[in-house]
Amino acid sequence: MPRRGPAEYNATIRMPEHGSIFGAMLQEFDEAARLLKLDPSIWRILTHPKRQIIVSCPVQMDSGEIEVFTGYRVQYNITLGPAKGGIRYHPDVSLDEVTALAAWMTWKCAVAHIPFGGGKGGIVCDPTRLSRRELEALTRRYVAEIIDAIGPEKDVPAPDVNTNDQVMAWVMDTYSMHVGHTSTAVVTGKPIELGGSLGRREATGRGVMIVTREAAKHRGLDLAAATIAIQGFGNVGSVSADLLARTGARIVAVTDSIGGVQNPKGLDVPKMLEYAAEHKTIDKFPGGEPITNEQLFALDTDVLIPAALENQITVDNAASIRTKILIEAANGPTTPEAHQMLHERGVFVVPDILANSGGVTVSYFEWVQDRYGYFWEESDVNARLEKKMHEAFHAVLQTAMKYGVDMRTAAYIVAISRVGTVTRMRGMYA
Ligand code: NAD
Repeated sequence: MPRRGPAEYNATIRMPEHGSIFGAMLQEFDEAARLLKLDPSIWRILTHPKRQIIVSCPVQMDSGEIEVFTGYRVQYNITLGPAKGGIRYHPDVSLDEVTALAAWMTWKCAVAHIPFGGGKGGIVCDPTRLSRRELEALTRRYVAEIIDAIGPEKDVPAPDVNTNDQVMAWVMDTYSMHVGHTSTAVVTGKPIELGGSLGRREATGRGVMIVTREAAKHRGLDLAAATIAIQGFGNVGSVSADLLARTGARIVAVTDSIGGVQNPKGLDVPKMLEYAAEHKTIDKFPGGEPITNEQLFALDTDVLIPAALENQITVDNAASIRTKILIEAANGPTTPEAHQMLHERGVFVVPDILANSGGVTVSYFEWVQDRYGYFWEESDVNARLEKKMHEAFHAVLQTAMKYGVDMRTAAYIVAISRVGTVTRMRGMYA
């Protein structure tokens, strides 16, 4: 589908390549911008990345050979504050993907109403083929190459696909060595001992629980009597399952990359957590019967939570989905066409940039605590997260009702109007 940007205003716009992920982001953006009647000048600014950095990172491998890895860091927009977003290590990382993800971080931070812009980084590599020493050397060289662009006031990375708290510790140490003092606030998702925040590990799943509860209330469903199916039992899926089960809801099916399990009477989530810790999968968990992803998607449940990968719900399986509420805990689990089909059938979809924003919200709390040098109790973190998620959900819901649109378009409208307003108020430096 050709992009319909602010061309009606005779603006010059950059057309995305066919099949580009950034192009998909632009299409979602354009629909919301049109409804908002966004000023074409602001439209043009918000559809261009502020800064795209490409670096070559030479690393001495264990064999003694030098390999050169390509790394990216994109700061899509920094109008509301420092760029915020993860660093991923994957063979398929590309500038197009990193730019789209940086744009989505911009909108996610704006929906969450935290003073951050959007960024993302990545290195084209297969981390499963790197030794720990090679991984550390690559991380440190990448950070050294982008050192002038990052910092607590500029750009604050975090973990993403195939990076973790250890990688963040190396990022923090490399940056600190360069600036000559310990700087904990340059990165989030750090180990607690290095200035990480209590509650960060559970934050995304906790946010998912909060938006599920609010969505159920909105649809007149009693969560304590609701049935829920969850795809993915990693960080986000397992914490969501645990917290939702504590509300009284019945978790009737769960899958992971190896297999799945269902029990219409409700799975024993604490036992599943123990089983998963021991076996690294919930496959063959004794408390239920086996189930596949496709069967899980087709279950007649009140809530369906994809919490694994992108592009899981497509035109091929959307027609079989029978849930009332879909909570996008993963990033990009539903294709635009499938989303349209579900929306037309009355499924209430809580979009990823709202549903999984609990993670970046507590990353913001981590940055605040690092800058203060004063650390909060876990109960403080959770109470503040509750307030932020509640406000974000209802701001998007009210916008959806005001414009008569789905929750995804409404989330974009909230984000674009917040970033657009500040852009206009700050004025143009030229
Ligand atoms: P994770 O690696 O901890 O867990 C992923 C889970 O998905 C695992 O249980 C894995 O077995 C399962 N999975 C993989 N392929 C599958 C398949 N084909 N079918 C069924 N299950 C499959 O990752 P995570 O941190 O839980 O992240 C999950 C999603 O949430 C990702 O899209 C991620 O981008 C998004 N997200 C995570 C956070 C966070 O704070 N961790 C924040 C925002 C968004």
